[in-house]
Amino acid sequence: MRDFDLIIIGAGPGGYVCAIRAAQLGLAVACVEQESDLGGTCVRVGCIPSKALLESSERFAMAGHALEEHGVIVGTVELDLNTMMERKSAVVKSNTDGVAYLFKKHGIERFEGRGELKGTGHVIVHGADAEQELRAEHVVLATGSRVAPLRGVETDGERVVTSTEALAFDAVPESLVVIGAGVIGLELGSVWARLGAKVTVLEYLDRILPGVDDEIAKESRKIFAKQGLDIRTGVRVTGVKVTKKGATVEVEGGDGVETECVLVATGRIPNSEGLGLEAAGVETDAGGRVVVDRRFTTNLERVYAIGDLIHGPMLAHKAEEDGVAVAEMIATGAQPHVEYLHVPTVVYTEPEIASVGHTEEALKENGTPYRKGTFPFQANGRARALGLTAGKVKILAHEETDRVLGVHIVGARAGDLIAECVAAMAFGASSEDIARVVHAHPTLAEAVKEAALAVDGRALHI
Ligand code: FAD
Ligand code: NAD
Repeated sequence: MRDFDLIIIGAGPGGYVCAIRAAQLGLAVACVEQESDLGGTCVRVGCIPSKALLESSERFAMAGHALEEHGVIVGTVELDLNTMMERKSAVVKSNTDGVAYLFKKHGIERFEGRGELKGTGHVIVHGADAEQELRAEHVVLATGSRVAPLRGVETDGERVVTSTEALAFDAVPESLVVIGAGVIGLELGSVWARLGAKVTVLEYLDRILPGVDDEIAKESRKIFAKQGLDIRTGVRVTGVKVTKKGATVEVEGGDGVETECVLVATGRIPNSEGLGLEAAGVETDAGGRVVVDRRFTTNLERVYAIGDLIHGPMLAHKAEEDGVAVAEMIATGAQPHVEYLHVPTVVYTEPEIASVGHTEEALKENGTPYRKGTFPFQANGRARALGLTAGKVKILAHEETDRVLGVHIVGARAGDLIAECVAAMAFGASSEDIARVVHAHPTLAEAVKEAALAVDGRALHI
């Protein structure tokens, strides 16, 4: 039996960041992880490998069609997929090794195996060869999420795959049907389309990217169509039949779509099974999420849950903030608070799509009076110099107080531009505040300032 102050089950961005912060604050921390590499979905098979491939595939695509206008002639561009995949794996390894280094540096004890909660302060680790019993004052559950199964569709890892296999194809499929025009579908659909696959995205709703501001989603869809992504909305997939040559994707009320491969990207569900929750009496909701109060505490005393396992956006930076908040609460008694409204979302397509705060639809629905300012990158000097003029910035501010209520961007490096807007919202800024701040010239960030000016009808460059 080993004794600690804190046991964390799961070493994804929620769990490993919680472990580091708790160790910084002087707690004796154990972290139980079933995979041999640390870092969770995000580092091993999520954020990091997908961004590595998005970067490499975009460079390949640009070399093929976007350099001539700069006067750069590269001749025939060839793809070495093997090297691209090796680079991706090296990027992942440097990140998983980085987490292992941080565990060592902070004296966090790592246990390899499946963690099972036995009750307050009590965890069993089911290792490959043996079981170990751990005790601690506090336990944090951070077991993340996995791919949601889709009724009628069996994944086989070859013809019908999840994001994990689609991050590691050993050849570019001639054709790929992506089920779901959400974040994964559009990011990984973009990767394989850039590398030469004919990509068809089938989406059940009548729009892409549910949750993203409608105007921005519509603009993004037009841009993706120009890039050759065949996005079909209002299509419900009912099944997939694997054939000799590939697969047929069956859709409600229409003809099946023939393809070489199918990527199922219809959402993720929390990993609340196999963790001993039922026996320990931990409450979960209908979606399998662990129910926590405002202090991230479950119905069991001193047992907490964070990240994808609980409510809120399923994002790595949200999981990290949850982890820090819980570590500080346990170690210092600080009140934990993570404002989910200020958690930004970034879709790393080209161009990127980034949002924070309320969408225009949400403001309309709850009757909040607002003013709106938009500014197109077409009118931004830096965007023209970069040759990346697609998209716009949209700022929504309260009609009476001018407080910023939401910012939505589709455009080059939107994921970096949104940081200023998140800070503005976190500090309760008005659109006038953003408009009065000096922005360097020429930068893409000037489009944010111009959109803020546009809220008051006084954008300068349009
Ligand atoms: P996870 O990262 O899922 O970690 C949970 C860990 O717990 C895992 O390592 C798992 O092995 C372990 N575990 C589970 N059960 C047990 C058990 N019983 N015992 C021991 N260990 C256990 N988010 C972003 O913010 N930006 C992105 O760009 C982004 N890209 C993504 C791309 C893809 C393809 C995918 C699939 C996801 C992406 N996400 C992205 C989402 C992001 O990965 C998750 O939101 C994030 O990883 C959640 O962190 P977590 O710590 O809650 O859980
Ligand atoms: P998602 O919820 O973003 O999108 C799933 C899509 O599938 C939705 O548009 C949904 O309407 C559609 N769908 C559901 N059933 C369908 C059916 N039968 N036929 C056709 N379409 C159907 O889920 P995802 O893309 O799988 O991503 C999962 C999670 O991972 C998300 O919560 C996301 O936040 C996170 N993630 C984030 C990033 C990022 O931050 N850049 C990248 C990848 C994943």
